[in-house]
Amino acid sequence: MICCDRCFNDIEIKSIIRGLDVRQEDCPLCKNNDVYIYDTELNSELKNPFSEFLSIYSSYDEIKKVAPLFHEFSSLKEELVDTWNIFNLDKEKIINVVREICPEFYNENSDLFFKSVAVREYTQRSYIEDHSILKCNDWEEFVTEITTNIRFNIDLFNKKIFEDFLTAFERSLDHNNTPSYYRGRIVEKLSYKENEMGAPPKEKAGNGRANPKGIPCLYLADSKETSAKEIRAGLHDKMTIGVFSLKRDIKIIDLVNIDKVSPFSIDNIKAHYVNKKHLKRISAELSKTLRNNSSDIEYLPTQYVADFIKSRGYDGIKFKSTLHPSGFNLAIFDVKAFECENVDSYKIDSLSVTFEAF
Ligand SMILES: [Zn+2]
Repeated sequence: MICCDRCFNDIEIKSIIRGLDVRQEDCPLCKNNDVYIYDTELNSELKNPFSEFLSIYSSYDEIKKVAPLFHEFSSLKEELVDTWNIFNLDKEKIINVVREICPEFYNENSDLFFKSVAVREYTQRSYIEDHSILKCNDWEEFVTEITTNIRFNIDLFNKKIFEDFLTAFERSLDHNNTPSYYRGRIVEKLSYKENEMGAPPKEKAGNGRANPKGIPCLYLADSKETSAKEIRAGLHDKMTIGVFSLKRDIKIIDLVNIDKVSPFSIDNIKAHYVNKKHLKRISAELSKTLRNNSSDIEYLPTQYVADFIKSRGYDGIKFKSTLHPSGFNLAIFDVKAFECENVDSYKIDSLSVTFEAF
């Protein structure tokens, strides 16, 4: 069977196929043109990665023997598509491709392909407690604990595990090679000057997703458009947008592509499986917009996470913008790491609105 780099979404698999450097006009499977191909009759580079990865799963019958009450099963097809986003193919074609890539594994483990599956360790409370970022394995329970019971010395957050994950999301920003970032402010009377565009001083620093009241943090956006949306500028509002440049090399945690980590690039796939949903949730919570009248308590869970990242020596966090989905934001702990170089002031001419029934 012939498949190609574009049959896959997984960056690691794509890179293995491209590394073989065999090009073809089109792919018989996904029908894309000008592709790098992988021929299961000739190539075997994907055999081991797939066999090792798939072996994290056990079938329904196996799981029921060790965890009779466990109920969170799914099909291998759903796991490959929804949990790991490995394929860029119709779901119906996937199992066949896997069978061709690793025929021996398929023959020896046919149960996995026809019955429901789960990761055995995910059924074991002791494994979760030792390997999950959240010992309770539930974000809502963590939120309840930190907001209503134990705040500063909460035991539910597995710092060591989270710290291990951070290294996978670490990015260096070189001050010579980093593009400009932006921060907007709605103009009340006069446009703002460069020295008025930085983070508010500690006396005026309010609560943010990544900082508590009294501790300044500089929030920047990747584009003028993202920054305008982040300050929720309305029709006819005037705003000043400051253009910021990086003054020193920094190290940040990039949570933008947290759900795109390839299972083929990590050592402990089972631990990553256990934490995938927590990492995604942390990223989503940091991106979420809060209303201006949100209570201090609503900020606490992400402030706790951000504070931990800061305590480990990182300079900031990069996360998606929910108000401008193709954009992203930076929360920079050292507010002097970026400097406002110039400002532009604008008036909002028009706004586009999309809506859906709820
Ligand atoms: Zn293809």
